[in-house]
Amino acid sequence: MTAEPTADLRRQVPRTDALLADPRLVAAGGRLGRALVKSAVQDVQQQVRTGRIAPADAVAAVLAVLPATAGTLRPVLNATGVLVHTNLGRAPLSAAAVDAVVAASGTTDVELDLATGRRGPRGEGALAALLAAVPAAEAALVVNNCAAALALVATALGGELVIARGELVEIGDGFRIPDLLVSTGARLREVGTTNRVTPTDYTDVLGPDTTAVLKVHPSNFVVRGFTRAVQVAELAAALAGTGLPLVADVGSGLLRPHPALPDEPDLQSTLAAGADLALSSGDKLLGGPQAGLVLGRADLVRRLRRHPLYRALRVDKTTLAALEATLRGPHPPVRQMLDADPAQLRQRATALAARLTEAGLAVAVVTSTARVGGGGAPELELPSWAVTLPAAFAEPLRRASRPVVGHVAGDRTVLDLRSLLPADDDALAVAVLEVARRWT
Ligand SMILES: *Cc1c(COP(=O)(O)O)cnc(C)c1O
Repeated sequence: MTAEPTADLRRQVPRTDALLADPRLVAAGGRLGRALVKSAVQDVQQQVRTGRIAPADAVAAVLAVLPATAGTLRPVLNATGVLVHTNLGRAPLSAAAVDAVVAASGTTDVELDLATGRRGPRGEGALAALLAAVPAAEAALVVNNCAAALALVATALGGELVIARGELVEIGDGFRIPDLLVSTGARLREVGTTNRVTPTDYTDVLGPDTTAVLKVHPSNFVVRGFTRAVQVAELAAALAGTGLPLVADVGSGLLRPHPALPDEPDLQSTLAAGADLALSSGDKLLGGPQAGLVLGRADLVRRLRRHPLYRALRVDKTTLAALEATLRGPHPPVRQMLDADPAQLRQRATALAARLTEAGLAVAVVTSTARVGGGGAPELELPSWAVTLPAAFAEPLRRASRPVVGHVAGDRTVLDLRSLLPADDDALAVAVLEVARRWT
């Protein structure tokens, strides 16, 4: 009688301690942590036990399933045509920002003056870069995100905030700005109607409890037809002499006007027009890390910095590093994508299609419409070019070694090139070819 095959295999399964002692797995443990390697070892042992992997191949199999990093977040190729995609982490950082993050990740002089050895102002470099980029601002402050900036303003100013009804905005995923403001204990005094508001609507309600007037950019929708909004300059003029601060949430974080985005407010123009504080996100059109920027009058910024809540909302050294490098360094990816020339996008699509056709794939090159996304410039259509594949590619592309997210239109998977940099095109081709190979 011969031994039962599974029992035989069981005897051949390499021992856990023997596998973990393999120099290649010791090295992997140093990089990823022993627990992660051990869990991969146990998975592979199970497969050896069932005969799917030969005992001699166990170490190679463990190495093959180990993740590239100790975290689970993976780099994804954004071929959606949405430049600032919230589900894909909004703005990708520039190489300069990534280098700055790496440099600041260890022990760093974020709050120490190396010349004197004394405590220094936290994140001074990032604040100086902000002020250089937005000269209309006297002072700046960086918090966790724009929602945090709004919460800090509403908490520190408190009392009654005057805001137009048409600016009580829901940003996305159920995040409503009025709910956030009220959660701080501030009261909202709504003025005007959904579609119309005038300067006197604001001035008529100002009273002893009023602490500030708030303007919020309705980032992700437009109101058309019989409408009337009050611009910052007009509102600042109406409030002159009242001593009440005018706070403008511009949302997207454009530093200065951009020719392709005529309806998108920017920080410099908003302050120059008379806002006392301007707030924005760091990871939308600014193209930097998640952050909330507060710029404007020095006395108001000081008040916010001194409020106890600021300590709970301030950002870490890596965010400060990324923000400073985004501001001082070359144009970040979002800006490059925004400025991409359609003729160049077409060339890239054609080159990619040629490479895929050579491998036997049925691809097409088509025009496409990209969008800013992230709740910015909702109606703006950015002319773009895309490569399309059969719709069945969409799901396996998301599971490729380097996942690709496109969108499906009818029976085609559309890979839009405007939300990728030219340097990503090779990785995109490799991912598509990987999926195609698995099918043949
Ligand atoms: C996006 C947005 C916010 C929220 O910004 P986060 O940085 O995501 O907190 C707030 N206000 C406006 C007008 C926005 O567009």
